[in-house]
Amino acid sequence: MSFIKEIIPFELHHHHQYRSIAAFVFMVLLFVATSILFIPIFLAIDFNIGAYIMVYVFISAIIYIIILRVTKDLDTCASYFAIQSIIISLTLMYFTGGIISPFVFWFFCIGPITYLYCKEKVALFWTTISIVCFFIFLAAHLLKYPFVNYISGDVSYTLWAFNFLFCSFFIITTLRSFQKGLKKANKRLHESNDKLISSNEELERFAYIASHDLKSPVRSIISFIGLLNKKYENQFDENGKEFLNIISSNANQMHELIEDILEFSRSNNRVIRKEVVDLNLMLKEISSHFTSKNKDAQIIFGELPIIKSDYIILKQVFQNLIENGLKYNKSYKKVISIQYIEQKDSLYFRVKDNGIGIEPVYFDRIFEMFQRLHNKEEYQGTGIGLAICKKSIQQLNGEMWVTSKVGDGSIFHITLPKNNILTNLNENENLVDLEITA
Ligand code: ADP
Repeated sequence: MSFIKEIIPFELHHHHQYRSIAAFVFMVLLFVATSILFIPIFLAIDFNIGAYIMVYVFISAIIYIIILRVTKDLDTCASYFAIQSIIISLTLMYFTGGIISPFVFWFFCIGPITYLYCKEKVALFWTTISIVCFFIFLAAHLLKYPFVNYISGDVSYTLWAFNFLFCSFFIITTLRSFQKGLKKANKRLHESNDKLISSNEELERFAYIASHDLKSPVRSIISFIGLLNKKYENQFDENGKEFLNIISSNANQMHELIEDILEFSRSNNRVIRKEVVDLNLMLKEISSHFTSKNKDAQIIFGELPIIKSDYIILKQVFQNLIENGLKYNKSYKKVISIQYIEQKDSLYFRVKDNGIGIEPVYFDRIFEMFQRLHNKEEYQGTGIGLAICKKSIQQLNGEMWVTSKVGDGSIFHITLPKNNILTNLNENENLVDLEITA
C-alpha cells in the first residue's frame, strides 16, 4: 500500500519502527473509513449525537496524521490516539446503553492497540486508564445508572455483530502485519549476518595472505641489513651506522608485526585439540623460560589441575600474560602469581602481576587488535597478543577479562568450562592467594 508510505514522513522511512508506524497509519485510515460509513447510518436511525461523534472521529483521525507528520514521533501520536479513543468510545457507549453498547468492542481494542504502537510504560498507563474507565461503567451498570440508548432492537444487534467482526478483523490484520514485519526483519538480519560472516572471512583471508606474502621480503631485508652491517661496517661513518640501525629496528618491528598478524589469522581457523594438559608441568616450563632470562622475575603458582584442553593454546595464553606482566612492570622484584579455584560451573584462573596497572576505561579496549596503551619507545609490542589470548580462550568456550588498579598491578581472569577438568582438587587448597610485594 504505497499511499501509506506517502503519508509517513520521509525521515521515518528507514526508522526501525517503520512497520509500527505503517500499521498505525493503516489503522487511522480505517477510522476515517469507519466514520464515513457510520455518519449516514447514524443519521438514518436518528442517532444525531452518534453522527457528530463520527465527525469527531474523522477529524481526530486527520489530526493523528498531522501530529505524526509534525512531531515524527509515534509515541506522541499513539498517546493522542489513546486519549481520543477513550473519549470517543466512552461517549458512544454512554449514548448506546453503557456496558451493553455495541461499541464496547471499540473500547476493548484500546489496550492491545496501544501496546502495539507505544513504549511499554506509555501503553501500560493508557491501558490502566481504559480499564479503570471500563470498571466505572461496569459499576454504573450494576448500580442501574440510567444510560440512554439511542440504538436498540435489531439495529443494536446488527451493530454489535458488525463491531465484533470489525474489531476482530482489525486486531488480526494488525497482528498479521506485525508478524510479517518481524519475519522480514528476521530475514534481513540473517542476510546481513551472512554478509558479515563472509566479509569477515574475506578480511581474515586477506590478513593471512598479506602477512604471509610480506613475511619473506621483510625477512630478506633483515638478513641483508645483517650482511651489510657485517661486511661493510667499517665503510659507514657514524651517520650511516645510525641510519642502518634505524632501518634494522624498523624492519624487525615490521617482522614482529607481520608474525603477530599471521598468528592472529592462523588462530581463526585452527582445529581445537583435546589432550591431557598438566598445567603444573606447563607452568613450570613457562616459568623457567622467563626466570632464566629475567633474573629479577618471580613466578609463583600452587597446585593446578590436570585438564583436557588444547596444550598449544593454553601455553600461548599463559606465556603471553606472564610476558606482559613482566614487561609492563617497573617493580624492583617482578612477581607474577597464577591462582586457581574450581568454581561451581567453571575452572577459574587468575594471572596477577605487580606491574604498572591499567586504567578501568581500557579494560575492554586492550583485548582489541592493535590497541596499545603505550608507545613503542616506552614498551615494545604490536597490540595483538591480548586479542589472540581472548579469542583463544573463547575458542575453548571460556571467558577472559581484566581488573586492575593503576600502580598496583593487574589481574587477568580466565574461566574454562568445568567439563575440561580431569583432577578434582580441594577447593580451598587450590587458591594460592599470594601477597605480592614490590
Ligand atoms: P602488546 O603487549 O604487544 O602491546 P597486548 O595485546 O599484549 O599487546 O597488550 C595490549 C596493551 O595492553 C599493551 O600495549 C599494554 O599497554 C596493555 N597491557 C597488557 N598487559 C598489561 C599488563 N599486565 N599490565 C599493564 N598493561 C598491560
